[in-house]
Amino acid sequence: MRRNRRVKIVATLGPVSTNEEMMRALFTAGADVFRINMSHATPEGLREAHTIIRKLEVEFSRPIGILADLQGPKLRIGKLESGAIKLTEGDVVSFVRREAIGGLGRMHLPHPEIFEAVRQGHTLLLDDGKLKLRVVDASDVRIDAEVVTGGMLASRKGISLPDTVLPFGAMTDKDRVDLEQALQVGVDWIALSFVQRADDIAEARKLVRGRAAIMAKIEKPAALTQLKEIIQLADGIMVARGDLGVEMPVEKVPGLQKQITRAARNAGKPVVVATQMLESMIFAPVPTRAEVSDVATAVFEGADAVMLSAESAVGKFPVEAVATMDRVAMEVERDPLYGAIIHAQRIQAEATGADAISAAARTVAETLNLAAIICYTASGATSLRAARERPSQPILALTPIPATGRRLAVVWGLHCVLTGDPKDLDDMVAKACRIAQQEGFATPGQRVIISAGVPLGTPGATNMLRIAFVGDEGPEEL
Ligand code: PEP
Repeated sequence: MRRNRRVKIVATLGPVSTNEEMMRALFTAGADVFRINMSHATPEGLREAHTIIRKLEVEFSRPIGILADLQGPKLRIGKLESGAIKLTEGDVVSFVRREAIGGLGRMHLPHPEIFEAVRQGHTLLLDDGKLKLRVVDASDVRIDAEVVTGGMLASRKGISLPDTVLPFGAMTDKDRVDLEQALQVGVDWIALSFVQRADDIAEARKLVRGRAAIMAKIEKPAALTQLKEIIQLADGIMVARGDLGVEMPVEKVPGLQKQITRAARNAGKPVVVATQMLESMIFAPVPTRAEVSDVATAVFEGADAVMLSAESAVGKFPVEAVATMDRVAMEVERDPLYGAIIHAQRIQAEATGADAISAAARTVAETLNLAAIICYTASGATSLRAARERPSQPILALTPIPATGRRLAVVWGLHCVLTGDPKDLDDMVAKACRIAQQEGFATPGQRVIISAGVPLGTPGATNMLRIAFVGDEGPEEL
């Protein structure tokens, strides 16, 4: 089975969708990667989802990615005596470090790190940015802040500090426990929430130890100041527009989405555009025109994947939401302007053998109108460079390593197939042509281009291109 689009779809699992029947329906409708939000997942739920996904992989003979999204340091205010209070514009309220039940004018803030880092003039955002306060005085034990935008505030609501670089990493104790569980179960990607600096990725990498790829969620202003370094250290990037739109003025989010997408594409790292893409489909079977346009924009930008959150986790129409994304993506990619836009955004090849080969493969495939580009890849690095070229032809990534195929499930344009290492060059060509045909990418008489590293099996040695006719390759030799 093959998808008829290049952009991938990430579907978040949740109470309505963590069951075999629904996950089969979501995969059939177009989900390439399943996301498990560790803020809500139980260890049993995680294991159950993993078992079902691996079963579906066998059923459909397709690698499927699993992304475990760690909660990160989500900050909250303490309890309020009456459950909720009204903050009025111009009021000055105090946040105190010492544990106490808060009331009018004084609230407990159970995060000592905030007191160490916050300064006069910094902004405090409460309840997803609905309320805004400005710090007028700050000490080690107390922060006084004036209400700029008021409203009702309930106990344990979230607090964001867009101007403050907080002195902690992107992983809490809960995240470390969740991470180990997710790695033991066998997920393919770990997403880190509220990344502030490149060191956060380096720290996580020490714990992950190569057992999964790492995706940095960009949602803090501090991360934007180190974007290049973060992209360099991470394996993938998520434009986490939900929290990004709380920490930054919402009107900045579209421009930032473009900047982050371009920077990730430039580095050849997969980039996922996330949050509220089809939000109204939580309750309605059809999306708004604006939502369709939002998905289309991400596809026109050449993002690797578009993501569903609540739509597929708790919504009433999860399958319809995936099917809608699938249809929108296919239509955009058929649009006569799509090729021109992707072509205009094409990025210069770097001075490496892998990039020179990938750029040449694209040029040959486009000039000769070949049926597909086929690359043999062990770590996935070669096929990431092939995808970075954003060619007009489909790309088949052939790998003997299941973990590679699963990680690449989120990457633009890659159709991954698990296959054993070829015996020799003739076998390599025959195998590639046979798979292209079997998977529905080429018919006899068409030609494909194959890239590989010779001697075969040498990692990082992509140095060969071969144009081959798809013909009667015969059955695979055992
Ligand atoms: C986001 O903030 O956009 C996001 C994807 O993260 P979460 O769903 O964990 O809030």
